[in-house]
This record gives sequence, C-alpha cells and structure tokens, in this order.
Amino acid sequence: MSAESQTPNQNWTQCYLGLGSNLANELGTPIEHLTRGIAKLKANSQIRNLVASSFYGSIPMGPQDQPDFVNAVVGFETNLTPIALLDVCQALETDARRERLRHWGERSLDVDVLLFGDQEIHEPRLIVPHLGITERNFVLVPLIEIAPNLIINGTPISSYPESQNLSGIHRICDADQRGKL
Ligand code: ADP
Ligand code: MG
Repeated sequence: MSAESQTPNQNWTQCYLGLGSNLANELGTPIEHLTRGIAKLKANSQIRNLVASSFYGSIPMGPQDQPDFVNAVVGFETNLTPIALLDVCQALETDARRERLRHWGERSLDVDVLLFGDQEIHEPRLIVPHLGITERNFVLVPLIEIAPNLIINGTPISSYPESQNLSGIHRICDADQRGKL
C-alpha cells in the first residue's frame, strides 16, 4: 500500500474510471476481468457510492488483428489522492496478470483514470482528464449513461458528438444484469 493511501483524508471527490479488456487468460474472460475489477473497487474502503455502466463491445482502437474489446466505466467518490487512485488502477491490472505486449494491443485489463473531480493533472505518471477521452465513443457512450450531466473540459458531455455515436460499439448487457454474469 502506498504512503498516500495509508493517510485517508476527509475530502471525497467524484471520479470516473474507464475499464477495458480483450484478452482472456487463466483468470477468466474479458467480462470476468471487468467484473472482478469492479468488485475490487467496490470493496475498497476508500471508495464509496460506485455506479457501473453497461458493458459494451467495441472494435479495437490500435492494431486491428486483435479481439474486440469489452469496455465499461465506473463513477464513485474516493478519498484517495489522484496518484493513489492510479496505484489502485494499476494494481487491478497487475491482479489480472496484464502483460505489456504492444502499444494499444491486447490486454487482460486496462484501467484508466478518466476524471478526478474537476482537477487538471499533468504529472509524469498521470494526465487527467485522460487524453483522448472526448474523441472515444467507447468511453463517452458508457460515461453519458451513468453521468448524463457531466461537464468535461468545461463542455457538457452531451455536446461531444462521440457521446451519441454508436458506430463500432454495441451494448453487451445492462448494468443491473452484469452481476449475474
Ligand atoms: P493505454 O491505457 O494508453 O493503453 P497504458 O495502460 O499502458 O496505456 O498506460 C501507460 C501509462 O499511462 C501508465 O504507466 C500511466 O502512468 C500513464 N497514465 C497517464 N495518465 C493516465 C491516466 N489518466 N490513467 C491511467 N494511466 C495514465
Ligand atoms: Mg491504461
């Protein structure tokens, strides 16, 4: 556990994470990697009021010779610092035995910090809002589902065309059905 996460403060900040998987391994399928990652976030005592989007299938953004992705986003309040939250995300990736195979390539689990309150963060390990967030429908479509009034970079999420663009993605299951998978 990092030093930051051992000293919780009383400030709870609304955050959003993006999760993606397109690689099964000995621990499970992409849907199971996402489900397990979300369950671990819910179980974290420094995270509360977690809401998960539906799961979506999406065509890969990078090399095309890889399986389609399963994507989802979650929103919650946390009293972790931004870097401590990134540590939590990267621990989830390690738990799913993520291997770095190639840039934008297949992965058992990718967990990105999309938004941390209205903070702008430019650190070597962490850039928030996540770069490219407003151009990716596989992020904005699940995000608008759980946060229809969200403001990103000063603009309502509904004003970004990609939040309404369903090309290349499809809903796999509703959020309330996901727990039964
Ligand atoms: P990608 O998500 O673009 O496929 P990776 O998951 O391999 O890339 O992450 C590469 C690096 O991006 C990580 O080591 C991390 O420190 C950095 N990074 C910068 N900003 C963020 C962010 N908002 N969320 C997650 N990782 C980030
Ligand atoms: Mg990532």
